[in-house]
Amino acid sequence: MESTKKGKLFIITGPSGVGKGTILEKFFHNNKNIIYSISQTTRNPRPGEVDGVNYFFVTREEFENSIKNNEFLEWAQYSDNYYGTNKKFVLKALSKGIDVLLEIETQGAQSIMAKFPDCISIFLTPPNLDELEKRLRGRNTEDEEAIQKRLNQVREELKLAKTYKYSIENDLVENALQKLQEIYNTEKNEKRF
Ligand code: ADP
Ligand code: 5GP
Repeated sequence: MESTKKGKLFIITGPSGVGKGTILEKFFHNNKNIIYSISQTTRNPRPGEVDGVNYFFVTREEFENSIKNNEFLEWAQYSDNYYGTNKKFVLKALSKGIDVLLEIETQGAQSIMAKFPDCISIFLTPPNLDELEKRLRGRNTEDEEAIQKRLNQVREELKLAKTYKYSIENDLVENALQKLQEIYNTEKNEKRF
């Protein structure tokens, strides 16, 4: 087990379409002292997504080389693609005393929670499953097959909701954002011994 030593490590997770990206965009707009860890992924960029901003978009071969070279703090296969967190980037920021936030799916979240028991884990829940499906479809970024794959794992993901330190229901964006801000304000000042 590792300690995050200086900076604090925040994880936000939850099913696809619940609103993680929407809430975090606003959160990072308002909070400049915490950094977002940009993941590597093999999925194709969506319209408007920028390499090096939303993700580092890589080939499967590049991703598999990074696995072999032990470059990931965690990685997972999700809906036919690989996603991974760059180890060097995160550990360097933490060692400098900078707080880092990972937005990752639930397998990766469980693995980080096991490695970093003092991380601050937050699970974003939908108001209900119909609303989640409506949001995922309404985003209009995945084809039917990809939507089904994402929806198929929601029940399993929700089963783990209790294992996270905090759970936030994303009913209204402003409410969820306010709760996330309160958690961050409390946790960033929390002393560790
Ligand atoms: P995630 O990053 O968790 O996959 P997104 O942030 O992309 O989810 O949100 C999925 C869709 O749901 C987007 O179209 C977004 O505008 C919408 N959305 C997010 N939060 C809410 C909310 N509280 N109420 C209604 N729609 C929302
Ligand atoms: P999307 O394709 O919708 O951008 O992301 C799919 C899922 O992968 C989301 O739940 C997102 O949080 C997660 N994800 C993004 N980056 C990483 C990562 O580095 N590691 C893991 N395990 N999941 C990630």
